[in-house]
Amino acid sequence: MKSDIRSIEYKDLGKIVEGLSEKRFRTDQIFGWLHAKGAESFDEMTNVPLSLREAFAREYEIYPVKVNRVLKSAHDGTGKYLFALHDGNLIESVLMRYEHGNSVCISTQVGCRMGCKFCASTIDGLVRNLSAGEMLGQVYGITKETGERISNIVLMGSGEPFDNYDETVRFIRLITDERGLGLSARNITVSTCGIVPGIRKFAGEGLPVTLALSLHACTDEDRKRIMPVANRYGLDEVMDACRYWFEKTGRRLTFEYSLIGGVNDRDEDAKGLASLVSGLNCHINLIPVNPIEERNYVQSPKQAVLAFKNKLEKNNINVTIRREMGRDIDGACGQLRRRVLKEEGR
Ligand code: SAH
Repeated sequence: MKSDIRSIEYKDLGKIVEGLSEKRFRTDQIFGWLHAKGAESFDEMTNVPLSLREAFAREYEIYPVKVNRVLKSAHDGTGKYLFALHDGNLIESVLMRYEHGNSVCISTQVGCRMGCKFCASTIDGLVRNLSAGEMLGQVYGITKETGERISNIVLMGSGEPFDNYDETVRFIRLITDERGLGLSARNITVSTCGIVPGIRKFAGEGLPVTLALSLHACTDEDRKRIMPVANRYGLDEVMDACRYWFEKTGRRLTFEYSLIGGVNDRDEDAKGLASLVSGLNCHINLIPVNPIEERNYVQSPKQAVLAFKNKLEKNNINVTIRREMGRDIDGACGQLRRRVLKEEGR
């Protein structure tokens, strides 16, 4: 299989160009075509000599991330994109329109092996990792389809970023490269279910992104019931890693807490959560759980969500309730992909 050229960082592309005895400015041209202009073939690179394009095409490929379906929410302008990869795998991404700009939620893996009980992405397990180029392809594809600028990226689609660590870091380096899209790292959020070695390593990458930690419960016992990863990394370790992240990067953390009716929305949960994060510079994002067909979890009633928020606020904790977007278009992780796979009888 040919190498995926979109996954190659600028400095490494430079070495390839040098190895072909080509002038240095060719690196900027090719990198610009790939990452600023979103070229999908070498043929598009019209200011690059044909011989050089052919030399590249012999060894490298721009693997397609092709729009397969787009669903647009009738309520809020949210768009759900299903993309087909070169091997026929399907992945999904979401475009969310906010006042402060467009945000895209991308997938980092085909499927997921983390096994969270409320999540649709994990039901059929992990199929494969995405390359950095395939993560970029989701952003480039949506940019092309809408003709709009994307200013924020959240790695909160299907997959666990730290289960695909190297490609995730490469993706962030490529998308923040000013010779490409040049997105600000501060506008990128990486969400993890709590892979402790990943968090610690990531703290040392020198990337000023936001880290979001999926908590969803405040005791190990409760967390194990809904998140199998809790059997590997206890809350003590996870919270230590979060404190380490803050010490190392100085960046405020986000904790995600999906509220499930009768499971983690009790009085004691709010109290436990408040004491768990006390003293940490953080923000809590409450997400009303998005019920999936395969599980019988239900949302907490609106009143319970508000009461939960109030209890946290009384403890001087920064908290917001995530606005639900795209409920009418299979908004939650992995739902659209599952539906289409089923329809196609796969
Ligand atoms: N693997 C990463 C990122 C992907 S999921 C992680 O676990 O953080 C992004 C967020 O959505 C996580 O907090 C996840 O727990 C949550 N989530 C997944 N399915 C959900 C659902 N049906 N309802 C509400 N939140 C969900």
